[in-house]
Amino acid sequence: MYYLDPHIHMVSRITDDYARLARSGCVAVSEPAFWAGFDRGSAEAFHSYFRQLTEFEPARAAQFGVHHMCWICINAKEAEDVALSKEVIKLIPEFLGKPGVLGVGEIGLNKNSKNEVAIFEAQVDLAAEREELILIHTPHLADKYKGTRMILDVLANDPRIKPGRVLIDHVEEHTIKLARDAGFWVGMTLYPATKCTPKRAVDMIDQFGQERIMANSAGDWGPSNPMALPEFIQELRRRGYNETEVHKLVYENPIRFFRQAKTWNFEGPLPVAE
Ligand SMILES: [Zn+2]
Repeated sequence: MYYLDPHIHMVSRITDDYARLARSGCVAVSEPAFWAGFDRGSAEAFHSYFRQLTEFEPARAAQFGVHHMCWICINAKEAEDVALSKEVIKLIPEFLGKPGVLGVGEIGLNKNSKNEVAIFEAQVDLAAEREELILIHTPHLADKYKGTRMILDVLANDPRIKPGRVLIDHVEEHTIKLARDAGFWVGMTLYPATKCTPKRAVDMIDQFGQERIMANSAGDWGPSNPMALPEFIQELRRRGYNETEVHKLVYENPIRFFRQAKTWNFEGPLPVAE
């Protein structure tokens, strides 16, 4: 079964992971800009990181036949430093429009602080101005419901934002309805410990259906599993989903969302209807 991992931080992963992904049927990955395990001290450091995402990782992935796409932004965790964040935001337009850059993300909130909200709003404005897709990181654990509400309020207050061009990621049972009822795409993150397991993700599919939804590994520098999508596929099959349905969830749905990007440049091995 061919699949895409719509959210994985390959800069944190070894080259063997690309080989494992390719062997398991992964044909493309989308890598949001995020925290890289430590705070970067300068705008130049972010500039290098954005080059790594747009130049180095696509070439490393291509050696294994995996198509690498990415998103550019300053993440919520480092947005607490407002002055640095503003400098980084000035660098973003240089990278939007490069081949395989899908849009602005993953932006959002981490601890729901005032500074994070200000930098989130500035990046929503940039994306709206340039008609870019948006990928949203919702906060983890206790802050998730409140943070998701705050994020949806910011988006609802901007009439330029089209919900079908925004993906709200890391949804769980208590936030999925909020995002989907407002017309957004949603992503479920399959983490070994926190966020949701493959079982919980399939429970959510059972309950909320197969439209505007996808699953990802969010594999990164911390405890995470880059091979989470094959486990999700196995769980879907175990629970009686047929091959057409599984294919829609792990291949067609992410393509339907991503191909709205201006720089969409992925020729997948199988066509996806309108
Ligand atoms: Zn992420």
